[in-house]
Amino acid sequence: MSEVVIRGVGLHTGAAATVRFHPSEGPVRFWLGGVAFRPLASRVVETTRSTVLAEQEARLMTVEHLLAALYIRGVWQGLLIEVEGPEVPILDGSAQEWLAALEGLVPQGPPPQPLPGSLRVAEGKSSVLAQPAAQFSLTVSIFFPHPKIGYQQVQCPPTPLKALAPARTFGFLHEVEALRAQGLIQGASLENALVYSREGFVNTPRMLQEPVWHKALDFLGDLYLAGRPYLGQFMVHRGSHRLHVELAKLLQDPTW
Ligand SMILES: [Zn+2]
Repeated sequence: MSEVVIRGVGLHTGAAATVRFHPSEGPVRFWLGGVAFRPLASRVVETTRSTVLAEQEARLMTVEHLLAALYIRGVWQGLLIEVEGPEVPILDGSAQEWLAALEGLVPQGPPPQPLPGSLRVAEGKSSVLAQPAAQFSLTVSIFFPHPKIGYQQVQCPPTPLKALAPARTFGFLHEVEALRAQGLIQGASLENALVYSREGFVNTPRMLQEPVWHKALDFLGDLYLAGRPYLGQFMVHRGSHRLHVELAKLLQDPTW
């Protein structure tokens, strides 16, 4: 592959960052501040509004959309991802540009493995269920008491995973001040998020059910942290990075 360089700002830090893809032997790894590490659930140190990895002194925020693109492309091996900056750039808030950047790569990695059994993680009204099946399938649903959202569900298949890629991060205008005060979403704008007002939209959705499609994308990114693909039926209701990562921890395969 010719060298791929992607620049942008982080959603939460607002910090400029550069990402370079380098062909490399072995499992997919990040390279940050002189430290190389695999994106694995055991390295997750925070799941508040984004998934954060850390290894020694290196800490990298908001890895989920880039990892979702790797999941969709089937790339588990042969790539070193060099990052300068504290956070993976948010770009347009979706995984579309990451997916395009990975286009020249050959899918490679271990063969999908059957699930070890049925697994369930839950917290309040949120749950993630994984059940053995001969094929991979994913059902994601959300509920927000908002006139333009309500209950939404997406099933893959029939929706192809790559169709999820353009779905953007979403948020609510009335939460912006509180999140900014917590030091979050310093880089958020109408260029990288679908924003809802109390009654409607501030900008225009790209697809009918963009929020749930984005949740499915977030789930794929977090599931990538299992370190290898699995066959099975995955069902996520009102998912969060915390629950997704809990499942990935149960699936993280120490042998590969
Ligand atoms: Zn996301």
